[in-house]
Amino acid sequence: MERISWDQYFMSQSHLLALRSTCERLSVGATIVREKRVIAGGYNGSVSGGDHCIEVGCKVVEGHCVRTIHAEINAILQCAKFGVPTEGAEIYVTHFPCLNCCKTIIQSGIRKIYYAEDYRNHPYAIELLEAAGVEYEKVELDYLHIDTGIKEKITLMTKLIQELEAQGVEEEKLRHYREQINDLFMHVE
Ligand SMILES: [Zn+2]
Ligand SMILES: [Zn+2]
Repeated sequence: MERISWDQYFMSQSHLLALRSTCERLSVGATIVREKRVIAGGYNGSVSGGDHCIEVGCKVVEGHCVRTIHAEINAILQCAKFGVPTEGAEIYVTHFPCLNCCKTIIQSGIRKIYYAEDYRNHPYAIELLEAAGVEYEKVELDYLHIDTGIKEKITLMTKLIQELEAQGVEEEKLRHYREQINDLFMHVE
């Protein structure tokens, strides 16, 4: 069995956190790590106890949802709330942080950003990160460790089976394939 790397482990955690997002505009997760230990995590969501965008719709002002606190900020605020230092820490995020989050990350003393996907990478944010000596590195999520597309795969396989059926493939073979698919995705639904 292959051992999961630290980068993949922390990046996977951020992707799991993203699944908790309550804003429909973008599911983002962030994990703050110090000395290979998770110290905080956050996802895109509203103020504690507030309305959730997924229930009442986004509150859009000038093209942005103003209800949402970004995942990175939520993770940093979790450290503030519980008195955990962010100085010298690293942050793993599902998407390249927005300008405001980049400024907050710099100011919190976090020294490195790992991000899985580019997302409107702001040139001024990059300028600020470089001036502050905050490193940023793309770490794409290895989907062998966390599969976020299982439903799409089931849909695709169902289509393929229907296609085979339409092509007149013998029923016994089809049943065999169906059984294998069921075994693979038994834990779903
Ligand atoms: Zn929203
Ligand atoms: Zn942000």
